[in-house]
Amino acid sequence: MSNILKQDSLLKGKNGNPLQIAGPCSAETKEQVLETARRLKATGKVDILRAGIWKPRTMPGSFEGIGAKGLLWMQEAREETGLPVTVEVAKASHVDLCLEFGIDVLWVGARTTVSPFAMEELANALKGVDIPVMVKNPINPDLKLWIGGIERLRNAGISQIAAIHRGFSYLGEKYYRNRPQWQIPIALKQEMPDVPLICDPSHICGRRDILEAVSQKAYDLDFDGLMIESHITPDEAWTDASQQITPEVYAELIDNLVRRNVGTGPLPTELEVLRSQITNIDDDILNLLSNRMEVARKIGEFKKANNISIYQKVRWAEIMEKGKKFAEKHDLSEDFVAKHFKGIHDESINQQEQVMKK
Ligand code: PEP
Ligand code: MN
Repeated sequence: MSNILKQDSLLKGKNGNPLQIAGPCSAETKEQVLETARRLKATGKVDILRAGIWKPRTMPGSFEGIGAKGLLWMQEAREETGLPVTVEVAKASHVDLCLEFGIDVLWVGARTTVSPFAMEELANALKGVDIPVMVKNPINPDLKLWIGGIERLRNAGISQIAAIHRGFSYLGEKYYRNRPQWQIPIALKQEMPDVPLICDPSHICGRRDILEAVSQKAYDLDFDGLMIESHITPDEAWTDASQQITPEVYAELIDNLVRRNVGTGPLPTELEVLRSQITNIDDDILNLLSNRMEVARKIGEFKKANNISIYQKVRWAEIMEKGKKFAEKHDLSEDFVAKHFKGIHDESINQQEQVMKK
């Protein structure tokens, strides 16, 4: 036990490599925790074992975590594998229990970082205890709130702090579960260069097929580590089933990553930040187009049921007139706006026709 605690910093990877944190979204059963820990340990590619014991869920009635008995399983996993363990804390009572059970590292979840009262409660509970803490970004894209949370912990005397980037929730998002908005972690790194920055691709992606690409992006941006959810039977996981991967798939993913920009800094150039903004805007445009077509199809259903014709001349004139006024006011050419709206309108008609033909 004490061997683990004597290491320099648990929040730094070994031999200049990125820090690798892996483990299930939630601790479910003792067997699941121990078996995951063993198989992750066997990959040789994990520095810290994670598992959620108290799960902040969006809806009541979902599985809200196994509670304090999970701490015993984490303790056992630690004894058996020698891996330090980390657990999410959201309130003072969680901190007290984690300290009692010798948890090595704490992490604060996105739904907690968002609340200054909760962060203050955690900071107070941590006064005089210098345990490493990782702070996830708040669910909304608010850099200041993230920095503020970290500072509250620093003010309480926590000297080892890492930041975890897990993406930001966004209305109508289709591709990511939580949009990465890379410019925000980049800005955090610029403001707090001494705080290790870890990427959590699992909660950004919400699905397995793009986990590796997002992990590689984090490597390319010189992140200091990754936190990836891994489960022995991912499809049967009690939480976040669609994004978890087996320890063996995890090992393959880590193996496939290439480190290209090692040590280049609190890097990104202005160009990269601007490109990241363009990517966000392109994502917005695609999401909005997809949402608009969804609504168009619903209108198609309605028109079909009520025998209304698809093409509504007055409505179309209204849309074009609005576009023209917008163009004048916002430095866009009238022609540009008209062209794009015509394209969108044509596609809407198209989609409605498909629905009505059914
Ligand atoms: C988690 O790590 O399982 C979790 C709940 O994450 P987040 O706080 O990023 O939603
Ligand atoms: Mn999760």
